[in-house]
Amino acid sequence: MRLKKILTAILVFALTLSAVGCSKKEASDNSETEIATESVASPDDADNNEVIPLPTGTSSEDTSVEADVFVEKIDNLSDDFITGADLSSIAAEFDSGVKYYDFNGNELDEQGFFDFLYDECGVNYARIRVWVDPYDENGNSYGGGNNDIETAKRIGTWATNAGMRVLIDFHYSDFWADPSKQKAPKAWSDFSVDEKAVALKMYTEDSLNELRDAGVDVGMVQIGNETTTGFCGETEWEDMCTLFKAGSEAVREFDKDILIAIHFTNPEKGSYPAYAPYLEQYGVDYDVFASSYYPYWHGEVGSMKAILNTIVNKYGKKVMIVETSYIYTYEDGDGSGNTESEGKAGDAFYYDVSVQGQCDAIREAANAVAFCGEAGIGIFYWEPAWIPVSVYADADYPDEVYEYNRKLWEEKGSGWASSYASDYDEDAAEYYGGSAVDNEALFDFYGHPLASAKIYKYIRTGAVAPLSVSAVTTDGIVVGVNEYYGLPETAHVRYNDGTISEKPIIWDEDSVANVDISTPGEVAIEGTVEVDGEEYPVIFTVKFLAENLLLNPGFEDEDMSMWVIDSDIISRKDDSSNVHDGAYCLHFWSEKDIEYTVYQTVTLDAGEYVLGTYIEGGDCGDDASFVLYAEYGDESLEQKTGVTKWQEWDNPEIDNIVITEDGTELTIGVKVKAAAKGWGAWDDFYLYAK
Ligand code: CA
Repeated sequence: MRLKKILTAILVFALTLSAVGCSKKEASDNSETEIATESVASPDDADNNEVIPLPTGTSSEDTSVEADVFVEKIDNLSDDFITGADLSSIAAEFDSGVKYYDFNGNELDEQGFFDFLYDECGVNYARIRVWVDPYDENGNSYGGGNNDIETAKRIGTWATNAGMRVLIDFHYSDFWADPSKQKAPKAWSDFSVDEKAVALKMYTEDSLNELRDAGVDVGMVQIGNETTTGFCGETEWEDMCTLFKAGSEAVREFDKDILIAIHFTNPEKGSYPAYAPYLEQYGVDYDVFASSYYPYWHGEVGSMKAILNTIVNKYGKKVMIVETSYIYTYEDGDGSGNTESEGKAGDAFYYDVSVQGQCDAIREAANAVAFCGEAGIGIFYWEPAWIPVSVYADADYPDEVYEYNRKLWEEKGSGWASSYASDYDEDAAEYYGGSAVDNEALFDFYGHPLASAKIYKYIRTGAVAPLSVSAVTTDGIVVGVNEYYGLPETAHVRYNDGTISEKPIIWDEDSVANVDISTPGEVAIEGTVEVDGEEYPVIFTVKFLAENLLLNPGFEDEDMSMWVIDSDIISRKDDSSNVHDGAYCLHFWSEKDIEYTVYQTVTLDAGEYVLGTYIEGGDCGDDASFVLYAEYGDESLEQKTGVTKWQEWDNPEIDNIVITEDGTELTIGVKVKAAAKGWGAWDDFYLYAK
């Protein structure tokens, strides 16, 4: 789990709190109304329906069980496919008095909780993170579950007694290790790489001995956690691999049947095929190439599937998704902001934010691993039980609940970080608090299992639920101010079994009449959709962009007289593969060194303006210079930009153009110097009054 994300979320949460009241959604192309689950009849018994089924498996025998969720069976899932759970915070949760229940509402004791997960939920493997010395100089715990080796022994014993095997996730740090930080333990901080290797090997050996003596059935060991940008304070691959090898040797010497995993994240960046050769080159002996996969950060499951398959085919390693999770609600349970919340910029929710959506996300992650055949060994759900110590969400006295929670996070370590972690972890200094994933658990805020807690059973059998509407949506649009927009006639009605049908929308006349097309901004137009006698709300968002004050800004018109271009290596081009929008762009390429300027001059009234454009391209060399500029009076403003690769658009903006007199001439343009054989395209320049 990436702490940076947690911190961003906490910030977003704080901002959200301060912005209550202005709840209009940020620019979005999709207007969505989530619907509470409610049973309805079949989706195709009204007029004009087109039911689009999701791809289905080829299972010959229907083993589906009745449930509250739909889950498509994953065919040919082997009995030893790992359906695991990272339960690292559970001891601290128990110590804080958190209660858990079974499906019948019976309270579970500590061992009972693990037995329940194994017997009723199909969790066959427990993952436990381990920090070397997560305590300050006075012995106060950094929190985050207090995951030293003693805690691992407690959790590992419950898991083993329940029948689960155990994956030990050594961070080789005193607190969270992820791509934003890979700090060596305090005691090793002055060590050379070779000294660290010796310490790491001994520590691994000692820890495994302690776990064996405690009766913990360790089946797999992770050498490091999300070691994408570094490991144990080292950032060079050779040094990182020296340390991976030290850990690996310790495990092999201890028990050759224990699987060794190396763990990376950010699969969406496409770097895994570059990491595996380093491990090979430096002779790291490992069995499993493990990845985190959080759909809202790491993209669609199809690419995850392809990446895992590449690793299997090219490097002959086993693969697994060792961390995944998904939100079932936007609500925060404990008063400490969550990593994922409503309107979180940049994150993509491919599945419904619901228990059904959680099931869909987990099922697809497991299916991606299973697709790799025998080499795809399993998945782990991250922290399915890190729920509120006590529930802040609907409390009568939330401040008191928060204070109660805060004390327990500090004393018992049930929050992601305590204030005592501040000296070691500078993020903790500012943002220490509770659970950032209580809305991603497989238990509700009060400890009762959600239907998704049974997902590991359901992927083996399939599950069917009474049909219900899960979301009613329309595709929002973006238009210029004073431009015509059309209301859609139908909405997409999505059902919990994944089917979608189109239903007519009845628009609210007042809501339509209130739309002011002359003001830039986003409006949500309300309507209703009737599905089998039930009415469902639907919204359609229209984003009105301010008038673009540039002429021929996207090069769609043949008349290019408004643009001054000082070189013949750049010109208007009909090139759909290089446009940002429309059919034309301003394209450049040259066999010789590149240098050009393109500009246009407009006359403006006094006011504040923003200028921007889009640029893509490649092969322009390390010393290339791309500048967007604005000149008026004595002012000269610049914004640097550049190219990376095909269709990767940079969007430079100059947003501080202040014109004080009517009739001022403003010249805007771009200046470029780049290497020979460089290429690229500019498109969609804009200049808006703010
Ligand atoms: Ca929370």
